[in-house]
Amino acid sequence: MDTSSRIDAEDHLTLYLPGPTEVRREILDAQCEWMIGHRMPECAELIERVEPALKSVFMTGSRVLISASSGTGLWEGASRNCVRQRILHCVNGAFSERWAEVSALNGKEVDVLEVPWGEAIRPEMVAQRLAGGGFDAIALAHNETSTGVANPLWEIAAEVRSAPGGDDIMILVDAVSSWSGVELRFDEWDLDVALTSSQKAFALPPGLSFCAVSDRAMDRARSVPNRGYYFDFITLDESLSKNQTPATPAISLLFAADLQLQTILSEGLEARWERHLAMRDATLTWAERNGIPCFAESGYRSPTVSCLDNARGIDIGALNAYLRTKGMILSNGYGALKGKTFRIGHMGEHDVASIRRLTDAIDEHLVRLGDGAVEGVR
Ligand code: PLP
Repeated sequence: MDTSSRIDAEDHLTLYLPGPTEVRREILDAQCEWMIGHRMPECAELIERVEPALKSVFMTGSRVLISASSGTGLWEGASRNCVRQRILHCVNGAFSERWAEVSALNGKEVDVLEVPWGEAIRPEMVAQRLAGGGFDAIALAHNETSTGVANPLWEIAAEVRSAPGGDDIMILVDAVSSWSGVELRFDEWDLDVALTSSQKAFALPPGLSFCAVSDRAMDRARSVPNRGYYFDFITLDESLSKNQTPATPAISLLFAADLQLQTILSEGLEARWERHLAMRDATLTWAERNGIPCFAESGYRSPTVSCLDNARGIDIGALNAYLRTKGMILSNGYGALKGKTFRIGHMGEHDVASIRRLTDAIDEHLVRLGDGAVEGVR
């Protein structure tokens, strides 16, 4: 599929952020359908189209719950529904750290497996921590957006299942910045929850989140008290079986999701994953030749966001001020990494051609400063 025409850089500021990401005009317009009531058959028909398409992208035959919240809400949902008592949180950046905090705030006993930020969680580390038993869930970010590290999810999931009592350990995955941009096979990899938000590689406006939930996780939820109300998987699933949601959904966003899911599925998941890998490679080749190291360790670099070490001391504010004059914007480092790193979001609607427009503009800025972009390098 030719995706190079997706981004009309002329009429707005093009987002090279790791979310929210570019949304096509056609998708924005889809939100302007006349409103329908959430108990009208038209809304049930809409959900009846959207949910199977979501299942195809998650590669699951189970179910995909739909929530009118951002992904953070489903963190809370996953922790409350799937953790009886004790959970192992794998932490390698700001988002995975925050999810651990959310579990603790919801009264769960949290153990942390942390590696230096910029590094990946290794399957053998997980195996070692689970060896003593006692955990009823493990949580990790598939793609840690703050550091640009993609964790080896499939290998980690396999280690969990072969740990003592591994069949009863819920594998909870934050796929917020990986979903549809990075290979993720929910059923084949035997995952229990994978959650995502609309404003990342899905390339919708923010405001919806989705999570695939296994039958095993539904069984767990039935046995866990205090699941709360808004994110109770049992009531969400009961409503979903009638193509409804328990509370009023974000109907306009569902219209947009309906259209965007058709685009994603017609591109094809493998082609979409490949396109994201090509964008990652184009970004990192450009960075390397310009003496800009990648913050994430080799072998685990994210297909959807590159976190670059600001070793050259580029003033990111000034860079973005220049990029704005060219109709573009990228992202500073996140939290403690602000200024020390900067991030290029290459997910959703972008392609290699649009990434090159950005890197060419960064080169122009560096040349203007006399800071020496490496000429002719892409
Ligand atoms: N997890 C990851 C990996 C993220 O990148 C983000 C947001 O950037 C979140 C969770 C939080 O998601 P949301 O902003 O949709 O609540």
